[in-house]
Formats: sequence, structure tokens, C-alpha cells
Amino acid sequence: MATMDEASGLIAPQSIRAQSITGLLEYKADDMPMTRNIMPMKAAIVIRYEDEEASTPELVVCAHDNCRNNPASLPPFNGDCTPNSANAGMPPCGARKVLLHSCCAPCSGAMMEEMLEKGLEVTVFFYNPNIHPKLEYEIRKEENKRYALARGVPFVDCDYDQKSWFDRMAGLEYDPERGLRCSACFDMRMEVTAAYAAAHGFPCFTTTNATSRWKDVQQVNTSGIRAEEPYEGSVRYWAYNWQTDGMTLRKYHISAEQRFYKQEYCGCSYSLRDSNLWRKNQGIPPVKIGGEVAGLGTRYFEDPEADAAEESQEVVDAFFSDAAQQFGNERLRKQFQGRHKSVAEGALNNW
Ligand code: SF4
Repeated sequence: MATMDEASGLIAPQSIRAQSITGLLEYKADDMPMTRNIMPMKAAIVIRYEDEEASTPELVVCAHDNCRNNPASLPPFNGDCTPNSANAGMPPCGARKVLLHSCCAPCSGAMMEEMLEKGLEVTVFFYNPNIHPKLEYEIRKEENKRYALARGVPFVDCDYDQKSWFDRMAGLEYDPERGLRCSACFDMRMEVTAAYAAAHGFPCFTTTNATSRWKDVQQVNTSGIRAEEPYEGSVRYWAYNWQTDGMTLRKYHISAEQRFYKQEYCGCSYSLRDSNLWRKNQGIPPVKIGGEVAGLGTRYFEDPEADAAEESQEVVDAFFSDAAQQFGNERLRKQFQGRHKSVAEGALNNW
């Protein structure tokens, strides 16, 4: 049994592995403190869920989440994200082995291709306990796995640890997309990705979330940079501009070639709720999970131009502008205003 340190309130972990990595602690699920804010701020915490029926223990979560209580404490994003930067679009520190956290096949296709063309050893890491319901999760995961394996890219099917995700989002249920809940959601996924990278010899990780125009790329990259902190340079987050016009076009083309499933909301139950609320206000049918018919538009990516138009910047802007009005709370409204679309003026749409 783990023991509680009276002075600090910390529960001593059962084991500490990867001693060379500062602050990587491993807990058994039963030993995990109830509140994360008593955890050491610089520690990356790996939780193992013992599943008697599984031959290997399930993973994982998490670390600190001070942004919830103090948004001002978020470190500024200062990564190099320009396409023609000094490292010529290569990972930091000359790394050749990259762990690519992926949210879905459409977002990972062009990134995977770009990395393979650069001669990098890429492994896809699917860790998205945010996706709800399970049916949508399985659809996104299986499609991502199929495509990665077809390209000869190893695929790590990580834990679907919904409970930890919901626990971590407690109190943020009504934050809008691009708000604090999304920071907490990116943090959680980046922390687990970084922990996996550290434990499995990847010097570098990055995420497909940085390609999406629905996301605030600064917010995504900030979570990545925060997640690399405990490793003191032995694991680095690769911040790069994955949103060039060329990459965006390639994304649409790969998605149409592969006829990927076209998801209709970001992923979590709260984004599903808010998307449907917005649709209701617009007189648009609700999101459909799975099946051959989408709530709106086509079920699969089929035509790069039509797909791009269907997900135009105007649609995104209208969604976020209208959604902002849904939140009667001044903090949320202000926070929401600070989140901007990810694309440069005049650039092609990114999604
Ligand atoms: S809206 Fe998307 S990024 Fe934000 S919390 Fe939900 S799943 Fe995560």
C-alpha cells in the first residue's frame, strides 16, 4: 500500500521508474491522490490501471493543471512555428524518431506523409479519452489505425480512460471550445504522450491537433511545451507550422482519396452538446454519430474542393461567433474573445 506523507499531503508512489527522467512518477490507480493540485507541479504522473483480464496494465494519466485555477499562469507560447525556420522543418535537437499524437485519420494523413518524406521514423500515438461516445471513438481510432498501418507506420493504441478525462474536466463543462477546458484536454493528452515518449525512447513528440483550423494553435502548442517541461530537454515538443497552404491542400486530397469518415464535432460530449445547440439555432439537423449518412453534408470526404467549402473559414467563424453568445458568463466571454482562428490572413482554410 502507498503511504501518505503527512507534511506534504503527497502519497508516495509504489514505484518510481525512469530515474534518469526528472519527475516521472508512476502510480497505481488506487494510489492516485484524489486531487491533482497536491501533486508536484513539475512531475509527469503515469497512472496504471490494473485490469485483471488484460495481459498488460492499462495506462495512464496525467499531471498538474494549474491553468484551471489561474489562467494567467499559462506560460506564453515561444516555440518556433515558422515553416522556414532555422531547423528547416525538422524536429528539435536533430531527432529522427517522432511520436505523433493523433486525434483522427484526416488530421494525421498529411503530417504522417510529410514526416515520412523527411525520412523520419514516425509512430502514431492514439490517446483521446475525450472522444465521446465510444462509437465515435472507435470509428476515429480504427480508421486512423488502418491508414497508419497501410503506410507502414506503427500505431500505438493507448488507453480510453474516459473517467480520468471527465474528472479532469470537472468545473469546465461549460467552457466554450478554445477555452480552458480545451487547454486542460490538450494538457492531458500531451502529458500522456510525453510520458509515453520518455518511457519508450522517443526524443520528440508533436500532435495533429496543431493542424486544425478549429483549434487555437497557440493553445495546442502551449500544452505541448508545458508537457515537455519535466523532461528537461530529454523529450522535446516539436512546434512547427503544419498549416501551410500545401499541407492543407494535401490534407483534403488524402482525406478524399481515402474516403475518411467526416466527423461533425471536436470530440467530447460538451463539444457535441454545443455543436448541436448551435445547429438547432441555425435550423441545421443534429450531428449523427456513425452510419452512412451525416447530420450535415457528406458522411465521407469525397471531393477536396467541396469538402473545403463545407468546412470553410466562414463556417468556423460563424460557429465561434454565435457560440460566444451562448455563454452568459463574463469570464468565459472574455476568455473566448482571446482565442483566435489559427490561420494567417489570406491563407487557405485549415481544419
Ligand atoms: S472541445 Fe475538443 S479540445 Fe476542447 S475539451 Fe472538447 S474534445 Fe477537448
